[in-house]
Amino acid sequence: MSVQATLDAGRQSAQAAGPFALNVTAIRDLGPRLRRVTLGGAGLHGFATDDGATWDMRVKLVIPSPGRPLPQPEAFEGHDGAGAALTWRQGWLRLPEAGRGELRSYTVREARLGQASPEIDVDFVLHPGGPQGPAARWAGKLRTGDPALVVGPRAAAGNCQGIEFAPGGARHVLLAGDETALPAIAGILRDLPAGIRAEAFIEVPDAAMVEELPSRATATVTWLQRSGHGHGELLTGAVRRAIPATAGLPDPDARDSGLEEVGPERTLLWDTPQYRRLFGAPADGPDADGAPFYAWIAGESSMVTGLRRHLVRECGIHRGSVAFMGYWKQGTPQR
Ligand SMILES: Cc1cc2nc3c(=O)[nH]c(=O)nc-3n(C[C@H](O)[C@H](O)[C@H](O)COP(=O)(O)OP(=O)(O)OC[C@H]3O[C@@H](n4cnc5c(N)ncnc54)[C@H](O)[C@@H]3O)c2cc1C
Repeated sequence: MSVQATLDAGRQSAQAAGPFALNVTAIRDLGPRLRRVTLGGAGLHGFATDDGATWDMRVKLVIPSPGRPLPQPEAFEGHDGAGAALTWRQGWLRLPEAGRGELRSYTVREARLGQASPEIDVDFVLHPGGPQGPAARWAGKLRTGDPALVVGPRAAAGNCQGIEFAPGGARHVLLAGDETALPAIAGILRDLPAGIRAEAFIEVPDAAMVEELPSRATATVTWLQRSGHGHGELLTGAVRRAIPATAGLPDPDARDSGLEEVGPERTLLWDTPQYRRLFGAPADGPDADGAPFYAWIAGESSMVTGLRRHLVRECGIHRGSVAFMGYWKQGTPQR
């Protein structure tokens, strides 16, 4: 089944995604700001991937409330007044607020599900010296053996929800993001087939986060080390140079359509062809299947908003060919 078909199937089912009770099986610090946490448990045999590939798959982590245990997965289950099974989120929202913890999004950096003890890796950006949220604090204190609760796609539901990367038939792919998007960009590069041209731009705090990113695609990776520059400044400049305003197809509809739809009530910008398709926005012209170029952009929300303005408004690139994802927002906790 294609990623799109499985996403559609997953949308139909309340059981498409659910909580997995896991344990920390390893912790590796990859420099002072990046911590790789390996999570394992027999339950992971029920975790879905796209035929082994995870691309940019996101999961939710339940971060325990201070001094409280993590909720049990069974606590998410139940039925509404009409007898319909609750989604995991509805179940979680019914739990008493004081003990249900906080939800935060992370990326499956790697899944090793075929082995006797299946595992996934999650890379946590730590921001020492900066504002600390519940997830960064929790990740910084984890020890091997600690429990973890991950909400992810269920194999039994025949879906692989949480994959946003959907280039259709594009042969040229642009990937751009900051350090929080590094796990996703690494996963996309790893899972791309040969014959695709991939250009990746990754802005990181310093050289400690620079690593080899293997790919079968014809890939170039440009690392931009922030060292003193404002967040997103180097990445924005690099993308603007890679795709100058004159390079796009002039498309007046694309320039003006829908750019104001992300209102102040939404903390994070999230404007992707997949999301619009799944959550009911009208189809807006040709989709990525027919386009030779596809861009995937993620990271700090204001930075992504600026790049969206550039690519859609100034370059006229159709929104059906670009996924814009605010992964976090400076000064604002994730909700
Ligand atoms: C789909 C998706 C996938 C993601 N994948 C990853 C991933 O693999 N690894 C990863 O590290 N992050 C990832 N993120 C980003 C992560 O969810 C956010 O950084 C989240 O805000 C962290 O939660 P928190 O509880 O630590 O901070 P919050 O409570 O959300 O925020 C508290 C404060 O910390 C600040 N803050 C949050 N994140 C950062 C940061 N990275 N640098 C500096 N300040 C920050 C906020 O602006 C706020 O002021 C992903 C986000 C999404 C939406």
